[in-house]
Formats: sequence, structure tokens, C-alpha cells
Amino acid sequence: MITHFVNGQSWTAGAARVGEVFDPATGVVQTHVDLASAADVDTVVAAAAKAAPAWRQTSLAKRTQVLFAMREIVNARRDELAALITAEHGKVLSDAAGEVQRGLEIIEYACGIPTLLRGGFSEGVSTGVDTWSIRQPLGVVAVISPFNFPAMVPLWFVPIAIACGNTVVLKPSEKDPSASVRLAEWFTEAGLPDGVFNVVHGDKEAVDALLDHPDVRAVSFVGSTPIARYVYERGTAAGKRVQALGGAKNHMVVLPDADLDLAADAAVSAGFGSAGERCMAISVVVAVGTVGDDLVGRIASRIGDIRTGDGRRPGCEMGPLVTGAHRDKVVSYVSAGQSAGATVVVDGRSVVPDGPAEGFWLGPTLLDHVRPGMSVYTDEIFGPVLSVVRVDSYEEALELVNGNPYGNGTAIFTNDGGAARRFQYEVEVGMVGVNVPIPVPMAYYSFGGWKASLFGDSHAHGAEGVHFFTRGKVVTSRWLDPSHGGVTLGFPTHT
Ligand code: NAD
Repeated sequence: MITHFVNGQSWTAGAARVGEVFDPATGVVQTHVDLASAADVDTVVAAAAKAAPAWRQTSLAKRTQVLFAMREIVNARRDELAALITAEHGKVLSDAAGEVQRGLEIIEYACGIPTLLRGGFSEGVSTGVDTWSIRQPLGVVAVISPFNFPAMVPLWFVPIAIACGNTVVLKPSEKDPSASVRLAEWFTEAGLPDGVFNVVHGDKEAVDALLDHPDVRAVSFVGSTPIARYVYERGTAAGKRVQALGGAKNHMVVLPDADLDLAADAAVSAGFGSAGERCMAISVVVAVGTVGDDLVGRIASRIGDIRTGDGRRPGCEMGPLVTGAHRDKVVSYVSAGQSAGATVVVDGRSVVPDGPAEGFWLGPTLLDHVRPGMSVYTDEIFGPVLSVVRVDSYEEALELVNGNPYGNGTAIFTNDGGAARRFQYEVEVGMVGVNVPIPVPMAYYSFGGWKASLFGDSHAHGAEGVHFFTRGKVVTSRWLDPSHGGVTLGFPTHT
């Protein structure tokens, strides 16, 4: 049984409701997770609120020591965390290890918090008057994360929020909840005081309780667009600062002058890595001009080499989908696309997996001649399904990308620097790759999409993360000297 982690300890009070946690490679329910009630969430938030004043007063030096210690722990035990991810999410071990690495980089970024939090100072803004700016923590903040990166997405926020002097309540996905608990235990081992980082498991009831709770000052959410919109609206209506990162439909534009082997490698890696369950996965290849047949042939030939199976088995490159229900939904999109006239070039429905038949399998699937009206194009599928849309020109490709409601990531493949430069300028997407299919920014830049891929205006981590988890204050100060005196009702000006 997986339960909450509150005040430096496992929760002992049980739960009225529990959820099932599957092993996606075997299809077996391996354990259950407690689902918090609103009253349970109150208890957890109270623990975080109680810890907040002392943590805020803890020096930057001491906060940094905890983060450095956590960095060492995660670095030393990265394989253990990766195994936990694979067991509940299904992604192959090497992919889970990559996720841990990207999360680790945020901890490393947060170790620089003394520099990141430095304010400004102006001496003598007026005669005998100095002004400085500081950034202070918000108090209790909530993080609500999706199933597809059970360690990395919490780590986009938690180290920075803590480094800034906040206390945190994390509500991870109930589908793969163990990684969060392990991180919380390790933070405690690293010296984080009890109550500074808490994990509460749950579903809509727990999320709603966090969104409505008066002591929760800010919410960082990552998940699907309908829930992101809901979280943003409900959280901001309750007076909170909210950043809600949503879903995606990432297009990869391939111009006629591109290196087609490079493009095909990239399309396959970015389309089928983590079985397409990445918000930065490429789901649409836009073949411009005459490249279509050649490109589709090269992609198809590469797919034949991919081994789908249990992520713990050596040699498997693509794991199962997260649940049986999700696999069935993805399969229904493939069937709908086929009925609507798309050509099924590679059919993952007939995959022979390297794992038990009861696992949630779907092999890599390639659809050609997909058109914008088809559901396989309009909806975020979040599975190993790559659609190819053919267009005649760069302008048509750009129109397609910019006409899509999502704006998370995109890529252009070309050998023409001018075309690439024009694309990065004109495209209405938050993260752009040039001959790079998954342009996920490093920890010291900020991650976030545009349009229906982000509600709010702060991206995750980097400078925007530090900004999100703090609020600014400007102090103007005058120490009396013998020349002071006199009332003035005029607006202060600089003299
Ligand atoms: P999801 O929206 O189903 O769940 C996300 C979180 O919201 C979970 O913690 C879940 O418990 C909670 N939740 C679910 N339904 C809810 C409801 N009705 N009310 C309140 N809370 C609810 O998303 P998911 O399936 O876990 O994750 C996949 C989605 O996340 C995809 O759409 C993917 O694109 C997106 N995602 C986006 C990014 C990004 O950076 N933009 C990153 C990762 C994943």
C-alpha cells in the first residue's frame, strides 16, 4: 500500500478510498494507493503551513546544504528511482534513467539559489535615500503532476520552491505514485526539516481541496489541457497564483532540403520514445513538397527495428502504455484514422511484445495521408502513433502548426539557415527545435508552451520558476541625518 508522506513520516490514518496501481508490462494490479479526502488534505496543508515560518527563516546557506545533499542522494541512487518509475509507468529503464537525470539537473540548478535570489540595490535614489529589491517566499505551494514523468515533473518545481523558502504539498499522479514518496523520504534524509515537503495522493477530490484551500498560495500544475484549464480557473478564482501546463500536439516540419536520414531518425525517436507518452513527443510529421514518399519509407524501415516489451528486459526500447484503458483509447484513434481515410503504413495493433500478453501493449504505428479534420490529427493521442500530413509549401506547413490550438513544442528539419530562422520567428509555439526533435530546455532555461499548452504566464524552472515561487518587494529607506525636516504633501520625486 502506498500512502501519503507528511511531516517527515508515512501517513498512518488510512483512507476511505484507494486507487489501483498497475504494472503496465504485466497488466497486474501490483499495489494500491490511498486517495485523500478533503479533510486529509487539510491535515497535510496544516503540516506544511506549520513548517513554513521556520523554513523561511532558514539561511540560504542551510537551504543550499540540503539541496546539495539531495543532489548526492539522487545521483547515487538514480537506478533505484528509475526502476520504481519503470515498474509503475512502464517506460524502459534507460528512458526512466534519462528522466531522473533531467530531474537531477533541476536540483543542481536550485543549488545556486543564493545567486538566483539576489536582489538589486540602488544607492542614493534621492538625497540620503537608498532602494533595494528582494524576493520573498509565498508560503505553502502545491504541485500537481501527471503520470508521464513521475519524478521529473515534480522535480521541475519542488527543489526550486523549497530553495526559495516555501513549503510544498505535492499531489502526484495516482497512476504511478511511488517516485514522489521516495523523493520525499530522500529529502528528509538530506536534512530537510519535517513538513517542508509533503506528498498527498489522490484524485479530483484532493486536487479540488488544494485549489480551494486558503493556506495554499500557489499551484503548479502539469497535465492534460481540460484539467489544466479547470485548475487555472478554479485556483485563480480562489486568489492563487497558478501556472497550469497542458497537453500538446507537436509538429515536426521536414523541408525538402533536409537530411532525410536525420529527420527519419528524429521522427522515430521523438514519436515512439516512452511510447509517445511525452508532452514533447512528436505526433505529427509535416512533409513539405516532394519528400513524403521517401520520408515515410525511411521512417517505416526504422520502426521495424524497434523492440516493444517489458522495460526491465534488456534490449526492449519501447514499453507498454500506462493503463489498459489508455491503450484501448489510443487503439480507437488508430481505427478512427483508418476509417477516415488515413493509410496505416505500420500497424502497432499487431505487435508481438517481449513481455506477458496481458501487458498494455501497442506497437509503434505510422499513419500516412492524415488530414487536419481527422480525430487522429485534432486530438492529443498520447501514444505511439505518428501521423504524416503532406503539404505543398513552407507557408502551408506554418499555417498548419500555427492553426493548431496547442503550442508546446515543434521542430523544423532543414539545411537552410534562413528558413530555420524564419520558422523560429514566425511559429507560435513555446519551445522550438532546429534539427532537434524534442527541444526540452535545460534547467537554467524555462519550460513551457503557448496557447492551450499553458494557462498562466510563468513557465517551469529556470528564472521563471524562481520568479513564480517568490514575490517581489521593493524597500526605500532613509536614515535620519541632521538636515532632515519639514512636511511635504507633494508626490515623492528625486532630489
Ligand atoms: P491528467 O490531466 O489526467 O492528470 C494530471 C493531474 O490532474 C493528476 O495528478 C490527476 O490526478 C489530476 N486530475 C485528473 N483529473 C482531474 C480532475 N477531473 N480534476 C482535478 N484533477 C484531476 O493528465 P495525465 O494523463 O496524468 O498526464 C498526461 C497529460 O499531461 C498529457 O495531456 C500531457 O501532454 C500532459 N503533460 C504536459 C506537460 C507540459 O509540460 N505541458 C508535461 C507532461 C505532461
